[in-house]
Amino acid sequence: MAEQPVAAVTAPTAPAAVAEVLIGATGLRKVYRSGDSERVVLDGAELAVARGERVAVVGPSGAGKSTLLHLLAGLDTPSGGEVYFASRPLGALSEAERAEFRRRAVGFVWQRHHLLAGFTAVENVALPLRLAGLPARQAEQRAEELLAEVGLSERAGQPVAELSGGERQRVAVARALVHHPAVLLADEPTGELDEANAEAIVRLMERLHEAFRLTTIVATHNLALARRCSRVLRLEHGRLFPVVDVDGGRSGGAVGRSEQGGSRV
Ligand code: ADP
Ligand code: MG
Repeated sequence: MAEQPVAAVTAPTAPAAVAEVLIGATGLRKVYRSGDSERVVLDGAELAVARGERVAVVGPSGAGKSTLLHLLAGLDTPSGGEVYFASRPLGALSEAERAEFRRRAVGFVWQRHHLLAGFTAVENVALPLRLAGLPARQAEQRAEELLAEVGLSERAGQPVAELSGGERQRVAVARALVHHPAVLLADEPTGELDEANAEAIVRLMERLHEAFRLTTIVATHNLALARRCSRVLRLEHGRLFPVVDVDGGRSGGAVGRSEQGGSRV
């Protein structure tokens, strides 16, 4: 067998200054149709999130934040444009690859925890691993490790219905991370919590972002959360704009609304 020349397998490397884009979207469109009417929710949204970034997406209710996160998670398909993960367009993945992407690459935290109330915390956290085919004992052991990470070891065996709102959201964070995803997507994770519990969830997500070397995108109305992210984007009129001053939201906060509307942020 002939030896391959080394030069033939040497790929050009990106300049060190260019951070690797882990997840992003280009020309992203989402149109909901019902009967004769249609609602354009995303209209050419551009997004490029580098590995390790923690990005907040803000915007009024109904702006399309949940829609955006669902598309990034591969839970829904765009009407136009493309979502990219590790340079691969999700649209090019087969059904099986797409399921694999959802199961392995992303963790999702919903505003409402979406836990199974009748099951224990550990059963809920273990569920994604069980669905991925891991034997019960291994899955529950990993789930217990994650519950310890979120400070709920003592509640592990308790039915979720018996936990407080703050505790449930911590279980939801544990479940989102139990398979060690590269990307954490959180949809208003503090939206239903009081201030103290919201602050605890913000701090928890901050700590786990570092500990798990995550890339995090969080939709939020919580200024305390947004302010502590590495970048804040505003979703408006179906597109994403960089926010330079989180607290100066009333003066607009969005940069180059008309000029830079098509730029990738
Ligand atoms: P946000 O999360 O920013 O509040 P959403 O992404 O939930 O916004 O919704 C954006 C818009 O799209 C809203 O007007 C909502 O009613 C509409 N919408 C969301 N999901 C659907 C759906 N499955 N079918 C029809 N319309 C939808
Ligand atoms: Mg929403």
